[in-house]
Order: sequence, then C-alpha cells, then structure tokens
Amino acid sequence: MERKRQMDDNTPLEPPPKRRTSTPLGHNRIVAPALPSAATPRMCEVCGEDKSINSFPNATQVSSHDHEHDVCHECFTMHLDVEVDSKMWDQVSCPQCPSLLQQHEIQNLATPECFAKYARFARRAALSSNPDYRYCFSTSCESGQVHEGQEPVFSCQECGHRHCTVCEVDWHKDETCEQYQSRNQVQKEYEAESEATLQATSKPCPNCQARIEKSDGCDHMLCSQCQHQFCWACLADFIPIARHGLHNHHPDCPNHRPAGDNNEDMIAHAGAMLLMANGRFQEMLEEVFGFRLQ
Ligand SMILES: [Zn+2]
Ligand SMILES: [Zn+2]
Ligand SMILES: [Zn+2]
Ligand SMILES: [Zn+2]
Ligand SMILES: [Zn+2]
Ligand SMILES: [Zn+2]
Ligand SMILES: [Zn+2]
Repeated sequence: MERKRQMDDNTPLEPPPKRRTSTPLGHNRIVAPALPSAATPRMCEVCGEDKSINSFPNATQVSSHDHEHDVCHECFTMHLDVEVDSKMWDQVSCPQCPSLLQQHEIQNLATPECFAKYARFARRAALSSNPDYRYCFSTSCESGQVHEGQEPVFSCQECGHRHCTVCEVDWHKDETCEQYQSRNQVQKEYEAESEATLQATSKPCPNCQARIEKSDGCDHMLCSQCQHQFCWACLADFIPIARHGLHNHHPDCPNHRPAGDNNEDMIAHAGAMLLMANGRFQEMLEEVFGFRLQ
C-alpha cells in the first residue's frame, strides 16, 4: 500500500513508475524507469510473491502472447497441471489471458509428467479421428487404438481387455459372431417376454414400489412388504374406500360407484380385507369398525 500512496503523490512531470518494481520513488525527483534485471524482483500475479526476473517465463518460452509474463514459473506449472487435467487437450490456456497455449509452450513450462499426459491426450485425439479407432471396453481403462483388418477381436494394448468390434460386446470366447448374435437374440426375446408377463401380472405398490403380483381375481391388493392396501385396477388407497365408500376409487375404475350408491357387499368385502391386515392397522380397525383384533 506504501507503493500505491507514493504513486498517487507523484507530480505529473515524473515518468510513470515501472510496473511492480520495488525501486523507491522519491517526491519531486525524476526517477529513471527501472530496467528489469535479475536483481529487480517482480511480483507474481498469482502467488503475490516478489521474485527475480528469472523466476518468470521469458518471451521465448511463451511466445504467442503480447503481454508481459507476470505469473511465476511455479504458479504457471500448477496452472498447467489443472488445465491439462480439466480441459480438452487443445483448450489449455494462458493463466493471464484467454489465448490458447501452443504445444512447445506447454512443453517449456509444464512438469515432464504433465506434458506426457498432455501429449497422450493429443495423440489419442489425433488417433480417434481415424474411423478405425476403437476405445477399450473395460470400464477401468481409458485407452483405445486403431483396429484394422477383418479379425473381430480387439485386444487392448494397455490393459489386455478384449471385445468384439462387430457385436460391440466383451469378447464372446468360444462363439463366432453369428453364434453369439443368435443366442443373444433368443435370450433377448425370452427376457422381453418375461418382462411383458411381469408387467401384466404385477404392479409396483403405490406406497413402497415393491412389485406386487396379482394372484387371484380380487382387485384388493395387500403389499407384503409395507402392508399398504390398494386397488389393483386404479391404485387408489384402500383405506378411504373401506371407510367412506367406493366413490374413492378413480372414476374410471371398474370398482368405482358414485357416492351414495355404495354396494354393501363390496363394502363388507373391504372390511374383510382390512381384517386380514393386522399390526399397524389395529388402531384404524378399531376406529372404523369399533373393535380390536385379538
Ligand atoms: Zn507465483
Ligand atoms: Zn497470455
Ligand atoms: Zn484397455
Ligand atoms: Zn462378435
Ligand atoms: Zn408396499
Ligand atoms: Zn376382493
Ligand atoms: Zn379402483
């Protein structure tokens, strides 16, 4: 802050002080602009430390920018670590401006590990523009390679994982592609069929989502998992139906009756169903029917 105050006090006759030098500025005295030298520290924009000029990238190391380089080597290197890890390989940019960095600039300023990673990403991007490039199917491997020729099996050079490039599945050992595909087709049809059967004969409990199978003709379902009772046809909660009547079914439900036109048999059936549910329904049974289960 001392430096700032002195700059404000400067008379207009004085040349502007060189940026970020610690050369003391006198009052009413011409001060020659300090030339950068190894002995003149500069402040890093990122870490705020005063460092010698050699601690900053020079114009050869970072050639594609028209600004001074005010981020020290250490901070520049850390910036590159983050950039290479978090961005597309060709989007790595300068810490001070939006300019993208050239490969030689990254090579000059990144750690060898960081540059190797960058080079690997760049190489993979170049390869993957090849239509014969295939990624490894292993979920723990990010590698890929150009796969040419008629042989369907892809063997990853990085991890050894194998997959079929024709069927696009993990390698079907002991089967040809035709054998694998016809077996897979039969299996898929079977699975689709059993899924359709399951969809037709079961529904998720509206309370706990457990799959409830309909075993007889009765529409009053009792979830074996959470004891929730509901109507199979309209999924309406069964308790208001038992308490207040069949108008509590959905209007489109075959079990629905208009209010005041309640079918006594169905109400009685509802009561019987409630009796089947014990435990947590005891209190409610008492309230609705005026008695307790033994
Ligand atoms: Zn720094
Ligand atoms: Zn820049
Ligand atoms: Zn692999
Ligand atoms: Zn295959
Ligand atoms: Zn349930
Ligand atoms: Zn019933
Ligand atoms: Zn219903």
